[in-house]
Amino acid sequence: MDTKLIHADDDITRVSDVVQPINVATTFRYNADPEKLVKYQDLPENSIIGNPVYSRLSHPNSENCEAVLSEILNGHVVCYSSGLAAFMAALSYFNPKVLAIGDGYHGCHGVANLFTRWNGLKQISLVDSFDELQKGDVVHLETPVNPTGLALDIQEYADKAHEKGAFLLVDATFAPPPLQDPFLFGADMVMHSATKYFGGHSDLLAGCLVTKNLAVKTKLVEDRVFLGTNIANLESFLLRRSLRTYGMRIERQSSSAEKIVAHLHENRQSYKALKEIYHSSLQSEAFVKQQLSSHSPVFAIDLVSEEAAKRFPSKCSFFQHATSLGGVESLVEWRAMSDTTVRPTLLRLSVGTENVQDLIEDLDTALKSCID
Ligand SMILES: *Cc1c(COP(=O)(O)O)cnc(C)c1O
Repeated sequence: MDTKLIHADDDITRVSDVVQPINVATTFRYNADPEKLVKYQDLPENSIIGNPVYSRLSHPNSENCEAVLSEILNGHVVCYSSGLAAFMAALSYFNPKVLAIGDGYHGCHGVANLFTRWNGLKQISLVDSFDELQKGDVVHLETPVNPTGLALDIQEYADKAHEKGAFLLVDATFAPPPLQDPFLFGADMVMHSATKYFGGHSDLLAGCLVTKNLAVKTKLVEDRVFLGTNIANLESFLLRRSLRTYGMRIERQSSSAEKIVAHLHENRQSYKALKEIYHSSLQSEAFVKQQLSSHSPVFAIDLVSEEAAKRFPSKCSFFQHATSLGGVESLVEWRAMSDTTVRPTLLRLSVGTENVQDLIEDLDTALKSCID
């Protein structure tokens, strides 16, 4: 993966620069030779990629991002202007009558609610029986799930969806490669908020869909032209920049999170404020080991009171109190600030690339000083 992150787009980079330059053009000159001009209706399939015409369709930096992400995500990647734009594109593509959707990122529920408003999309929960699902419907599984970082069994949901002829869409934002490959356990499509680990510096917004099927990719790219949600030029440059160091970042963040969670777990008796710790590294089900090769850099804790949870972030020096995750800077969020569905004692922590001992000491201090 580390070599692909540097070189997977060498062949399509259009200039000799070692780094594909920032390219802000929205429009690109057609071939100067009239004999080589092809009318839109005569263009071959898949010609949107590789022939920049207008940046809403595609542009050089978005194509570099897609080339690199395709290699590391083991499928054909289509990039979007955000993670939610990717989810919107997936639902637009599948156009299900019934959507089974679990807990997880509240924004995805917001997108599903738009489909319900427009055309009566019926939503059921992952714990409901899937009897209502029909051919072409969608099961949306987020794993590990926001905000706890607990893992769900991809194979189990793939089997349940496929039994009904439905598709399994997996939001794998919390465990990007090499942590987890949902395709190995039956996913039909995978999405990521690239704002998180692929971006990794809390300075760009992007998303992507991954499919094993080239025809599906072609359709997604065509749909994206009219959804108007291609990843922007400058964001693409930043994303391509970030991907160069992605391998080192994810490895460090994942291993630090495991160490921090293990420390809290082993010393939990000494923390009066700590009620519960949630993380896939503390799960004992067999599927967790099979499906996750290492654990998400996100975990959650419940404190003994709302007051303690509200005060906790102010007691941290390195974990900054902000929403989002995936960046090199560690973040903590009193989750009730942005997610109305979550109990007010819950804190979500996103582990960055700082020295792990510093992070452990930071949480240790905050846990000891957030209650009187
Ligand atoms: C952040 C996030 C999203 C939405 O991504 P944006 O890039 O903010 O639109 C979707 N799913 C999960 C799990 C996320 O963490």
